[in-house]
Amino acid sequence: MRFETIATSGFIDLEKQNHTVSTPIYANTAYSFDSVQYAIDLFDLKIGGDIYTRLSNPTNDIMEKRIAALEGGVGALATSSGMSAILIAVLNITSAGDEVVTSSKIYGGTYNLFSKTFKQFGINVKFINSDDLEDYEKAITPKTKCIYTESIGNPRIKVADIEGLSKLAHKYSIPLIVDNTVPTPYLCKPFDFGADIVVHSTTKYLSGHGNSMGGVIVDSGKFDWEQSGKFDMLTTPDESYHGVVYTREFKDAAYIVKSRTHLIRDLGCCQSPFNSYLTILGLETLHVRMERHCQNTMKVAEYLSNHPHINFVIYPYLKSSPDYESAKKYLTHGASSLMGFGVDGDGRKFIEALKLFIHATNLGDVRSIITYPAGTTHRQLSDEQLKLAGITKDYMRASIGLENADDIIEDIDNAIKVSRT
Ligand SMILES: *Cc1c(COP(=O)(O)O)cnc(C)c1O
Repeated sequence: MRFETIATSGFIDLEKQNHTVSTPIYANTAYSFDSVQYAIDLFDLKIGGDIYTRLSNPTNDIMEKRIAALEGGVGALATSSGMSAILIAVLNITSAGDEVVTSSKIYGGTYNLFSKTFKQFGINVKFINSDDLEDYEKAITPKTKCIYTESIGNPRIKVADIEGLSKLAHKYSIPLIVDNTVPTPYLCKPFDFGADIVVHSTTKYLSGHGNSMGGVIVDSGKFDWEQSGKFDMLTTPDESYHGVVYTREFKDAAYIVKSRTHLIRDLGCCQSPFNSYLTILGLETLHVRMERHCQNTMKVAEYLSNHPHINFVIYPYLKSSPDYESAKKYLTHGASSLMGFGVDGDGRKFIEALKLFIHATNLGDVRSIITYPAGTTHRQLSDEQLKLAGITKDYMRASIGLENADDIIEDIDNAIKVSRT
């Protein structure tokens, strides 16, 4: 099946779901066991099946299978938010004393998780200030367990060299984890360029309507954990499941099975089936929404590029963008709806004069949203960290919605005038 077909109707089993055409919400906690032996086999991971909604749920299952298929992976795990997806994706293959290499220009929430909370766990994350693969390579040590990147960085909207980073990771027998939230699998397929694990905040484009928190981890199934020799937690017996060895028992799906049976079991950050339901509704129009998001954003980006009172415009599909070549390589159809620009005027007046844009910290909503990173998402960062993250005081990050593009442009135009009074 092709992308649009999977997105709208993948993995529906009409018989199993009482012939309901829309996916039902299974709002239950537990599942009955047919026999004691059945329960024993479930708990020993000898057979697959539902035990308790913290571990799995039929509504979540449909969402996980659809997203896994859209990304081209072997399996997925739904989590309560993008942050918990990132937490589990990394913890699944790291322990105290291990290291992770990433860019300093990543999403502010991930930066905090990596720089503060992971430090508490004894996991040391090295932040690279350049996009130079040599700098990444210099940071890799025998303790490094993965490279982590964002396909389109949020908020500086940088397109990652996924192919270069995955080759580098594989040279050192470690996987590449890619946060693919901003382009979604409709625009970017990290697995096609060698990435091993993908994470998403489904809160954004995948659910698409700004109404449900969620995250998902997708496993490509391609990384050879045994050959690498660096991942005991996947290749040696897990005592909490009677000595199961994930790579032996679950082969290609070892990583994603362990993330469920071990980490979501222990950390408990599962997704509510209701949120999965909302995300499934979002997936069903993903390809249509992304097309229009891209068209509208391109129009706005082109308009602002020629505006006398705009200091700069960042949008990878602009021919003038330093990322144009990599955008064409990694992103099909368009560069999503995240764009940045600098207003030559009073930033505060600009934000407050916008009428159509909603001032909020979100993206991937059907409505246009404006975020002022220096004043909100990146407030916790010091001046030095702000500089490294590439956030200037005039920097506005916009997520362009599905309104009429001319109305969006008029709204920005008016606000620029007010910002200069
Ligand atoms: C929003 C976001 C996250 C965090 O996701 P939540 O669902 O808010 O926890 C992670 N990465 C990127 C790129 C994001 O935009």
